[in-house]
Amino acid sequence: MIVSDIFRAKRFVMSAEVFPPKRNGMLEGVIRALKDIKGLSPDFVSITYGANGNGGDTTADVASVAIDAFEMTTVAHMTAVNMTVAKLEEKLEQLARKGVENILTLRGDIASDSAFYDFRFASDLAAYIKRRYPQFHLIGACYPEGHYQAPSLEADVDNLRRKIDAGVEHLITQLFFDNSCFYRFRELLARKGIDTPVSAGIMPITNALQVSRTVAMSGAHIPPDFAKVIANNDGPQLYRAGIDYAVEQIRDLHANGVRGVHLYTMNKGEIAQEVFARCKDLRA
Ligand code: FAD
Repeated sequence: MIVSDIFRAKRFVMSAEVFPPKRNGMLEGVIRALKDIKGLSPDFVSITYGANGNGGDTTADVASVAIDAFEMTTVAHMTAVNMTVAKLEEKLEQLARKGVENILTLRGDIASDSAFYDFRFASDLAAYIKRRYPQFHLIGACYPEGHYQAPSLEADVDNLRRKIDAGVEHLITQLFFDNSCFYRFRELLARKGIDTPVSAGIMPITNALQVSRTVAMSGAHIPPDFAKVIANNDGPQLYRAGIDYAVEQIRDLHANGVRGVHLYTMNKGEIAQEVFARCKDLRA
């Protein structure tokens, strides 16, 4: 099934992201996470592609398990960094053989040795796939607080339009902790005439290390109520408080007319289980 059809059929869509192992063959952890997530009946799962263009085979391997063993609607992430036309075609044909219908087209996380060959931006990848492999349904990333390399949020949204013009039909946001940033972003999209459906990316923060890493990597704004959660809790208390905060965020998004939430699970099935269970009524 394609993600846009799920959004057309359901009032509130909940999905989840998992990541594959860095090396081939070590699939146990992600399979365990998929098994836990399958029990939650997610509307779809997405499987990341390694940073700096590494590890594409494991994405396809995990996609194959999600489709064949767990019968889940699956989105494979695909990145432009270090990507050539020949490599892309090989990967897309592999994904098509495994039954993947949805591709999240991305530029990719980069490193100091990153190179760009045939594609520079996510929109280049989307345009190529749309032209050569129109059977795939294309999804793109967006940034409620702006991408870190964009000169402004407005400029980033203008670039987002290029992705949509290139064939992207659904968007998933970067994680955020402040729903008001998302609501302002939604208004900006509307002002710019962008009506592509959006899944809001939510990551439950459950330990102190994750706080420093995630915040540094995403650049997400920490609103005062979440700052209090982080400052006043540690150990098991932070675990509980982090889940409570994510559930409150999701319930608020739902109450404000948001149609979909994508949960960044970090392969922790038990956390996803609790969040989904506490949002069950929203999906009824
Ligand atoms: P782009 O859309 O290409 O944008 C990158 C920057 O270039 C932005 O600043 C944008 O404003 C600008 N830009 C875009 N088009 C143009 C243009 N034509 N001219 C000038 N400037 C332009 N990374 C991974 O490596 N693997 C993953 O699996 C992965 N999954 C992700 C999933 C989601 C939902 C999100 C939000 C991010 C994910 N990332 C992943 C991280 C992502 O690759 C990085 O955030 C990356 O820095 C940008 O990717 P993008 O696709 O948004 O890039």
